[in-house]
Amino acid sequence: MNAPQKTPEATSGGEVARKLIDAVERLGRALGSARREVATRYGLSLLGLQLLEALDRRGATAVGELAAELDVRQPTISDAISTLETRGLLTKHRSELDRRMTEVELTAAGATTAGRILEELTPILRPGPNEPAAPLDYRSAPRAQALQVVLEEIHRLQTAGVITVNRSCLSCTHFAPAELGQSARCLLLAVDLPPAALRVHCAEHEPRA
Ligand code: SF4
Repeated sequence: MNAPQKTPEATSGGEVARKLIDAVERLGRALGSARREVATRYGLSLLGLQLLEALDRRGATAVGELAAELDVRQPTISDAISTLETRGLLTKHRSELDRRMTEVELTAAGATTAGRILEELTPILRPGPNEPAAPLDYRSAPRAQALQVVLEEIHRLQTAGVITVNRSCLSCTHFAPAELGQSARCLLLAVDLPPAALRVHCAEHEPRA
């Protein structure tokens, strides 16, 4: 048995940062395992389930964008799309904006399946109250700070080339960082962006050059 620690382990900023990443990684593994369990019950691969989730959130999306968001190669996503198409859960069509691009979107059956899956995953994915109008509580402020820190880490990994797609505020051309005494702002939507308002997946996101 290990001897009990006499002093707290986190004694430096670097140590705290490492522990944060360890904790996020642990969370990611647990969520991945919960998703795999649900996917198996619905006869889906993990990638198939993630595709349904992404299409439910984004609507019609280009195949290339889905591959980038889910961090898989084009042939891998194409196989997963074909499987879901055969099951009648999604359809493919040419993009109206650019006829060279193929987009996919959920069919009615796909939307129903995605809705059921999300209903099952929501208690795991949403640790707080699920009603949008639920009042802030004592955990809201630390959670908002944690959100900002995790988004900063995602941005760091994107800059290092580890993450390819990041549609959150910190990598957006419309994001104006906080200045002394003033909140960060979204210049496109003309709204303040305190940590609690930062978006993780934003439809209006435009990558910073
Ligand atoms: S457009 Fe979206 S991602 Fe960009 S700053 Fe505004 S809210 Fe954030």
